[in-house]
Amino acid sequence: EVDRYTASTPRSAELQAEAERYLPGGSSRGTAYFAPYPFFVERADGHHVVDVDGNRYLDFMLNATTYVLGHSNDRVVEAVREQAANGLSYSTPHESQVRLAQALCERVPSVEKVRFTNSGTEGTLNAIRAARAYTGRHKIAKIEGGYHGNHEYVSVSVYAPLDALDPEEPTSVAEWPGQPPSVVEDVITLHYNDIESTERILRENAAELSCVIIEPVLSNFGYLPADGEYLARLRELTTELGLIFIFDEVQSFRLSQGGAQEQMGVIPDMTTFGKVIGGGMPVGAWGGRADLMDLFDPTDGPVVSHAGTFNANPMTMVAGLATLDQLTPEVYERMNALGDILRAKLRAVFDELDVAVQVTGIGSLFGIHFTEERIVDHRSVLRADRAMQQKLFTGYSMRAS
Ligand code: PMP
Repeated sequence: EVDRYTASTPRSAELQAEAERYLPGGSSRGTAYFAPYPFFVERADGHHVVDVDGNRYLDFMLNATTYVLGHSNDRVVEAVREQAANGLSYSTPHESQVRLAQALCERVPSVEKVRFTNSGTEGTLNAIRAARAYTGRHKIAKIEGGYHGNHEYVSVSVYAPLDALDPEEPTSVAEWPGQPPSVVEDVITLHYNDIESTERILRENAAELSCVIIEPVLSNFGYLPADGEYLARLRELTTELGLIFIFDEVQSFRLSQGGAQEQMGVIPDMTTFGKVIGGGMPVGAWGGRADLMDLFDPTDGPVVSHAGTFNANPMTMVAGLATLDQLTPEVYERMNALGDILRAKLRAVFDELDVAVQVTGIGSLFGIHFTEERIVDHRSVLRADRAMQQKLFTGYSMRAS
């Protein structure tokens, strides 16, 4: 499979070799890195990307779930073009920011006020900062195996291998050498969907904990939705213990106008966003209860600082607005129904091929794990066959060409 992939992507191979001279591993991103090298894109349209060798692919990644209307949607491109002619960014506010904020506040149950950033990473960073400032406590709790961006305090036990984990207890493990031990100590990890141990750990640490951050649909586990009962219990517990409950909806916001929280009926104190809300431009945001968000109010000097030259830049805001404008309830309904069909068909194909597989996901989000074991958490994901994942990537890329 790999040989056939390399045979159909010679220009990508050349570019990769050149790229490696200037960029570690050839790129600033690793999302779609599979050996021997990723294919280089020349252009994209609708739901296809075309590589530099002219191979056309059906794009299931859509820049890590960013695009709900396909690449280069007409109205988004028009909005960006129009804005570009009037300036790319300014020092003072532009109305587009107000409109996008309004759309989020109107759509998402937990969001009374919001602030924009340029990445989901900055969104979670600032939501956590708000929780700390509000509670005056410094520890945070996250799910073992959960990804919330690339900053220090969420880079604990994201990809930690099985042999680094305590067999019984959720374990906090540094993601790279030299991470301060204090960071690892300050990040408490929880087992996904395990109410009993989660409750015990939160109670034990409550005096020092500021917040619990969780994806209601956990992307690293193949978009595995949290049990309704687990989320509801977390909501009760965080309220009882005075912790801020944060939903990371950077990806799950593509499930409905109000995100996963609307679908699942559990309303957090704060929510983080990215991807879809910027229509394909760099974006992030966090929003929530007004009393938490007002910590950042600059009127009398903010209690908590959140600065950024390109925060809420109009290019991103207009692209986001042009996207959300088109995302009616009917669009979500159709998208989610297509997701159900895709998962059912994938299961049928793997059944027919007699390959042991778990197809996970909800709505338009899906994951494939090569294992017989039901996927329930980080550890079950780790036990799946990674080599098969690699084959799927190169095999699919090859067949699509
Ligand atoms: N949280 C989740 C759940 C994500 O999936 C991502 C990005 N994949 C982030 C946070 C970070 O967003 P960004 O890549 O824009 O920094």
